[in-house]
Amino acid sequence: MVQATQDYVYGKTKLSEEELNKARKIILDLQAENAELIEQGYGPFLAAAYDDKGNLVAKMANTVAKENCCLWHAEVNTIKKACENLKTYDLAPYNLSLYVTAEPCIMCCGAIMWSGIQRVFYSVNSADVERITGFDEGFKPNWIEEFANRNIEVYGEIEAEAGRKVLEKYVTSGKEIYKPSGDR
Ligand SMILES: [Zn+2]
Repeated sequence: MVQATQDYVYGKTKLSEEELNKARKIILDLQAENAELIEQGYGPFLAAAYDDKGNLVAKMANTVAKENCCLWHAEVNTIKKACENLKTYDLAPYNLSLYVTAEPCIMCCGAIMWSGIQRVFYSVNSADVERITGFDEGFKPNWIEEFANRNIEVYGEIEAEAGRKVLEKYVTSGKEIYKPSGDR
């Protein structure tokens, strides 16, 4: 079911050129903002949820180190904020797309499944996140197929080169790679 082209990973349906360009612009803007937020002490990941009319519903960065909670990944924070803004635990009626600067980890895959988010657009894949940063993304075999079974579309590797550069800078500038002590 998953189709990988030279540049992009797709779930069930291919994006039109217009949709792909829109996603590229949103992801590039997120990466630029992510780089600024890192300097303010946020973790190196940023997510944003948009409705099908293109309205921004919520945008949140990773606050694991900033707020001392291992759960506060960008996707979880954004889903929580979207639920608060829309005053619901079920985002499905709002037909939301979640844009993320990196592929969701094992926890965020679970959070996205329970949220009612309909589409996920991500930039840097988990293998590159782990290779560049040393963060652990967790075990999530066939997650794109799992999402497709739940009618959640996934589009990946969008503007990944720019995303990798932000992560590389996070590491070379000596920022914190947070994980449980004694892990591995
Ligand atoms: Zn996560």
